[in-house]
Amino acid sequence: MVTHLATSKPSEIRFCCPFCPTRGESVDTRFRLYLNVSSDKAICFNCGYRCSTGAIARLSKELGEDIGFDSAVQVVGTTEARKDNGPKDFQLLRKADYANDVIAQTATRYAINRGLTREQTYKANAGFATKGLWGYRLIFPLFWKNELVGWVGRDFSGRARRPKYIMSSDSKQHLFTYGRLKGNTVLVGEGILNVLACQRAVETLGVVATMGSNITDSQAGRLKAIGRVASRVVVWPDADAAGKRFAVELGYLFSECSVVYPSPGDADELEPELVSKAIHRSQPFCWAMQMQLKS
Ligand SMILES: [Zn+2]
Repeated sequence: MVTHLATSKPSEIRFCCPFCPTRGESVDTRFRLYLNVSSDKAICFNCGYRCSTGAIARLSKELGEDIGFDSAVQVVGTTEARKDNGPKDFQLLRKADYANDVIAQTATRYAINRGLTREQTYKANAGFATKGLWGYRLIFPLFWKNELVGWVGRDFSGRARRPKYIMSSDSKQHLFTYGRLKGNTVLVGEGILNVLACQRAVETLGVVATMGSNITDSQAGRLKAIGRVASRVVVWPDADAAGKRFAVELGYLFSECSVVYPSPGDADELEPELVSKAIHRSQPFCWAMQMQLKS
């Protein structure tokens, strides 16, 4: 996971600046690079590095991590979440007025481009909103015991200066789940679109997404409960350093599970046959794998 700190401002997070040494300063260990994920600007208060556009991409490259998602989680985890905790004008895709609604058409096109089937879209109660922070996003409501507990929204506006993902403030207490979990093989992954891709490749799978590589205590408790009722658990980590930590954490959490390792990447960017093969070839989490994941 990217090491960053929150600041008093919503949308702003701090990093240890990777540019300081090349700009004649000592190595920054005090998180002096401030990144605003809404305006996509960054500034370092040690070496004076400034980036007035494309800061997220620039920093992701420099730090070797995709900071989009985790920063977005940060954004809505703070003040904005309290002000705008969930979409006000949410519309279900299955009930949208396609003929007359351009946003509904755009949302549907985006869902199809990401490989979602009509059944998945309907069963997951996916939808969209038209206004504010939640506008122009494919939105997945999160449910726990049939109660609506949170929201996750993936941008489809294509505008560069928006966080790709946003979540309502309590979302990280919860999980995205789809399909039957009890008595079934359950696949756990980091992102909703990825686990839904796994479900398309292996239709009998129940799937769970944690919305990011870090697991909160509440999520850990729920994952354990799912592990107890599932017949088998398969973990699909992202193909990055955070994904490795995710796999190790879940390996410890479940008394028994298999891991898709090495991770072939994002399931929703792979052919279904490759996804299904990867799941079937997943290996039991064991000491040797743990060593590899930690190296
Ligand atoms: Zn700096």
